[in-house]
Amino acid sequence: MYDLIVMGGGPAGSSAGITAARNGARVLLLERGRFPRQKVCGEFVSAESLGLLDDLLDANHRALLGDAVRIERTRVFLDDRELQAPVQPAAASIARLDLDDALWKSAEAVGAETRQQVTVQGVQGSGPFMVSTSAGNFVARAVVNSSGRWSNLNPGPPKDGQPRWIGLKGHFGEASPPVSVDLYFFDGGYCGVQPVDLRADSTSGRVNACAMVRADVASTLPEVFRNDPALLERSRRWRQLGDAVSTSPLLFREPRPERDGILMIGDAACFVDPFVGDGISLALRSGALAAECLVPFFREKTGLDEATRRYCDEYVRRFGAVFQNSSTIRRMLRLPRVVRRPVVALLGKAPAVTEYLVRKTR
Ligand SMILES: Cc1cc2nc3c(=O)[nH]c(=O)nc-3n(C[C@H](O)[C@H](O)[C@H](O)COP(=O)(O)OP(=O)(O)OC[C@H]3O[C@@H](n4cnc5c(N)ncnc54)[C@H](O)[C@@H]3O)c2cc1C
Repeated sequence: MYDLIVMGGGPAGSSAGITAARNGARVLLLERGRFPRQKVCGEFVSAESLGLLDDLLDANHRALLGDAVRIERTRVFLDDRELQAPVQPAAASIARLDLDDALWKSAEAVGAETRQQVTVQGVQGSGPFMVSTSAGNFVARAVVNSSGRWSNLNPGPPKDGQPRWIGLKGHFGEASPPVSVDLYFFDGGYCGVQPVDLRADSTSGRVNACAMVRADVASTLPEVFRNDPALLERSRRWRQLGDAVSTSPLLFREPRPERDGILMIGDAACFVDPFVGDGISLALRSGALAAECLVPFFREKTGLDEATRRYCDEYVRRFGAVFQNSSTIRRMLRLPRVVRRPVVALLGKAPAVTEYLVRKTR
C-alpha cells in the first residue's frame, strides 16, 4: 500500500511526488513515456514558480536553473504593430527535454519510487484506490491525476464542432537572438519565439519557436511562419536543430481540481492558454499544493475528504484569477480584426496598459 500514486510524470506529477516524499510519504510516480523527451512547449517558465523549482530540484540538477537564459522583456506583434512590456520579475527559458528529466530524477533522489513506460489504465475505489496499469495493479491511500490536458485518464469534453487547434514546436539556430519572448499573432493562431541557449557557440544561439494554430491554418512550422511577414523574414535566417514536434487537440475547459476523490493537478485540472506562459508554473505549484494538503491525511490527522476540500479551496483562491484573466484576453485576441485594431492601436500608445495586461496574467 502506497500513501500516494501519482499518474503522470510531467512537472505537476514530479512536483507532487517530490513534495509528498519529502514529507515522509511512500510515493509511486508513474509515467507512460520515457525521459528525456521532447514536449511541445514555449519553455517560458514564469517567475512565480522559480523559487519553488529551485527548491524541488536536487543538488545535482539545480544548475539547470542557474544557467537558464533570463527573459526580461516581451514583444507582441499584432495587427502590424509591435507592443513591448517588461517581464518583471524575469522569467527563465528552460528546454523541456532537460526540465522534465531533472524533476523526474529529483523525485527519485528524494525517495519516490519511479516507473517509466508504465501506462495507467484506470482507477477503482474511493480510498483506498486500486490503480491498474500496463505493469500490474497498485494500491494507494490517495491518488493524484497529473496526466496532462488530454489523456486516456482525462478525455476532455465531447466534440462540439469547433475548429481543431494544434501545437507545434521546433528549435532553431539564430545568430544573436533578442533576449525577449516574442509573440507573433495572426488570424487563426500565434507563434512564440524565445532564446533557450545564448551560448551554443560564439556566433549562434538557439531559439524555440512554438505555435498554437488552427489545423486549417497550418500543420507545420514553415506554414505557421508564412502567416506573419516579420516572422517569415526572421525564420529565413534560421537553421533547424533536430525534429519538430506536434500535439493535438488543445482543449480549454473550466478548472476542475477534483474528480471522483482524485486530486487533479497541472493541465489535468485546467489548461491555461499557452500565450500567458504560466502552464509549467501552475503545474509545479498545483502539484506541490496537492501534496501539502494531503500530508495531514498521510499522518492520520485528517480524512481524505477534508484534505481534498482544502486543496480545492486553495486551488481556486490561488489560481482562479489567472484562468479568468487569460480567457478574457484570449477572447479579445479572437475579436474580428476591425474591432481589435483600434484596441491594439490604443495599447501601442499606452504602454502602461500593456504592462498591466501582462501582469494580470500572472
Ligand atoms: C503550444 C503550447 C505552448 C506552451 N508553452 C508554454 C510556455 O511557454 N510556458 C508554460 O509555462 N507552459 C506552456 N505550455 C503549457 C505547458 O506545456 C503545460 O502546462 C505543462 O506541460 C503542464 O504540465 P503537466 O505536468 O500538468 O502535464 P504534462 O507536462 O503534459 O505531463 C503529463 C504527463 O503524463 C503522462 N501520462 C499521460 N497519460 C498517462 C497515463 N495514462 N499513464 C501514465 N502517464 C501518463 C504523459 O506522458 C506526460 O509525461 C504550452 C502548451 C502548449 C500546447
